[in-house]
Amino acid sequence: MEKYISLSVKCPFCGKSLMDKEELLHGEPSIKLNIQTQNSRGTIRLCSIYECYDYQTEVPLIEKEVVDFTCPHCNKELNTKEECQVCGAPMVSLLLKTGGRVGLCSRTGCANHYVAFEDLATELQKFYEAFGS
Ligand SMILES: [Zn+2]
Ligand SMILES: [Zn+2]
Repeated sequence: MEKYISLSVKCPFCGKSLMDKEELLHGEPSIKLNIQTQNSRGTIRLCSIYECYDYQTEVPLIEKEVVDFTCPHCNKELNTKEECQVCGAPMVSLLLKTGGRVGLCSRTGCANHYVAFEDLATELQKFYEAFGS
C-alpha cells in the first residue's frame, strides 16, 4: 500500500472537527461541509487525502458557479476575502488540526487548492510516525 497523508481539519471559527468518520472517502474520514448554491443547499464531503480532490455531494453543482461553504457546526461562512489566483473566486479556508491551513477555491470546476503546513518537514514527520512505516 502506498503511503499517503490524510488531513484532519477543523472550523477556523468554532474549532470543531469537520471530519466525518461515518462517511469514508477512499477509506479515510471525509471532510464534511455545508454548501449553498444559487438554487439549492446541502452537504459536501471532500476527500481528506493530501492532493486528492475528489468530493461527493447530493447538491447539483453547476460548472463555474461559486459555492458558499459554511461550517456544519456554527454555520459561519468559510469563504474568505482571499481570491483564487486562478479564477478570482473566494478561497475557502480551513484549519489543520496539527497547525497550518487548507485553502480551496469555491468555484465548481476550479482545481486550485493548497495546503499550507506551518512546518512541512515536522508535519510530514508526524504523519509518517502516526501511520507507521
Ligand atoms: Zn464552525
Ligand atoms: Zn479558482
